[in-house]
Amino acid sequence: MSTNTEARPHSLPGDFAGPAWENTSEYPSIASNEFARDLVLVDQLIQQLADLATKLRPSFEPLLAKQANASDEFIEKLHAHAEFDEQARTLLSNLIIFVDCERSIDGQNAEAIRVHAILMKRRARLNSALMPVRLFLTHAPDEVIARYLHHPRTEGNEFALRQARQLAATRLSESEETLLEQMRPHAIDAWGNLYSQISGTLRCTLEGADKRLETIGLAEASGILREGCEARRRSAWYGIQAAWKTHEDSCAAILNGLAGWRLEEYQRRSDLLSVSTSERSTPLDFLELPLHQERISRKSLTAMMTAVEDSREIGRRALRAMARGYGKNQMDPWDLMAPAPNKTQMPVHRSFKEGLKLVREAFAAIDSNMADFVGTMEKNRWIEGRILPNKQHGAFCTQFQKSRTPRVFQTYMGSLADVRILAHELGHAYHAWATRDLPRLQRLYPMSLAETASILAETALADSLAPSTHADLAPDEHTGVQFEIAWQNAEAAAGFLLNIPARFDFEKLFYERRASSQYVTPQELGELTETAWRKWYGNTLSETERQYWMTKLHFSMSRTSFYNFPYTFGYLFSIGLYARRRELGNKFFPMYNALLRDTGRMTVEELTLRHFGEDLTRPEFWQKSLRIVNAQVEHFERLIGQMTK
Ligand SMILES: [Zn+2]
Repeated sequence: MSTNTEARPHSLPGDFAGPAWENTSEYPSIASNEFARDLVLVDQLIQQLADLATKLRPSFEPLLAKQANASDEFIEKLHAHAEFDEQARTLLSNLIIFVDCERSIDGQNAEAIRVHAILMKRRARLNSALMPVRLFLTHAPDEVIARYLHHPRTEGNEFALRQARQLAATRLSESEETLLEQMRPHAIDAWGNLYSQISGTLRCTLEGADKRLETIGLAEASGILREGCEARRRSAWYGIQAAWKTHEDSCAAILNGLAGWRLEEYQRRSDLLSVSTSERSTPLDFLELPLHQERISRKSLTAMMTAVEDSREIGRRALRAMARGYGKNQMDPWDLMAPAPNKTQMPVHRSFKEGLKLVREAFAAIDSNMADFVGTMEKNRWIEGRILPNKQHGAFCTQFQKSRTPRVFQTYMGSLADVRILAHELGHAYHAWATRDLPRLQRLYPMSLAETASILAETALADSLAPSTHADLAPDEHTGVQFEIAWQNAEAAAGFLLNIPARFDFEKLFYERRASSQYVTPQELGELTETAWRKWYGNTLSETERQYWMTKLHFSMSRTSFYNFPYTFGYLFSIGLYARRRELGNKFFPMYNALLRDTGRMTVEELTLRHFGEDLTRPEFWQKSLRIVNAQVEHFERLIGQMTK
């Protein structure tokens, strides 16, 4: 899960603080000639793509109607198109990532904001230029596709093309698809932007230690929810709720607008099925595209959700034990992200060097190559960890497409949670590194599998710091670190096995309601949240956060819906994968690498069958991982029992 850190201005001694990253190897700056030159190249490539499409277009109709065979010249032009497509996307993505990196370390960098808007327009132009050939390849006869893919430039695109062709029957006409593409930034994306604007300017009022009121931004207030002092957390939580409450009508309009656009689009696409000659007859429902994007079948999702629902008690027990740790009967909503109670000692702070060393040791326990990779990241200064005033909240991993080198971004403040985030992002970076020589389209893996590599890295860190097999140690033998790790594991169990499924159920309930009625009011959205929360959390919470539908960004993102189930998927999948480490010994690392390299070129079912020999569509696959989580929670319950004796 992309975890948020407390990115508050705060000083750490020089040798404690995280490093600055080095991106000048890509471009000296946004204003540099090198940057401008790549942008000119992108424009030239867009023009070349448009010219080629014009030349190819007269052949489309006879070929689609199977009234003609494709000439060698036609296939050659398609290959040239693929080459330009590749170059244009690589360059444009490199420019966008560079600007995004600049914006992430200084959210007020006016030049970066201005150039970002220019690049977004370029992206829409590029997508429009690619549309005619992209649609042709979606519909073209198998014989043409076979010849198209029989070339070093295109053979690596086979899986991506197969995926796209599965949706062929739901593609609109070229002019309609282009129109949708052009309208998106001003319609559905505008709803998402409105949400960001509201959350960016939201001010929360909290009661300070001396009963004086203080007003702070949302990012800072959210950071307080991760602090140790309960009075502060409680005050921040109420402050956040009150701030959002004033925007509930706007937020409901955003959710209704996003879902309305999507449902209308799915309807338009489904209307085609009645007149199409394809075998497909079922209309698109609201889950189909998210599942397609994640390359997971509906059957696998159902198997996972069924197994998780049958095991709801695991997450609930974790929460009850956490509540006991706080001396409560139930968790309050402001406790859900709180750190382990630490009554006896000051929290330990580790310098960045020490934190990185812990991650390197954890990676070394898997394989020396993974430890070497951490060294490569450090040596090349591919990690950003400073504390800066206008730095973006949270942590992420990205990669430059020209050099194919990863970058990790976080605000490192020395807590164990920060070390865990560092491991998480380095897990993503290793995934990118292990696949860097593959064709571009094979390096685009779905989020469910991306989170597998990152959560596996977190598990490796936890394992190397506090082996869970030490369940019978006396209380005084458990260092603060071991308890903290067990606490984080319990928090993860509650998060992935209760919170994420509750979000999934809420979103499903909402789409069903939106499809059957004109508008879902803030009041109704609160009721749907309540229903989903009660189903999953039972009585483990003192109250439901009824405004969760607006406080959680994920429901208001315009480019993707149901941004929830892939988290639980990645969590359980990575736990199952990690369990193989003991079984396979030193055969684990080659298997892990081979699996990572396949994450962008097969469905998740195919991947699991090939590397695990197992069937993802059966609940048994998921139950195995759930048993491991159950053991973690049992261990945690024992620790809490000893602590509260
Ligand atoms: Zn992640």
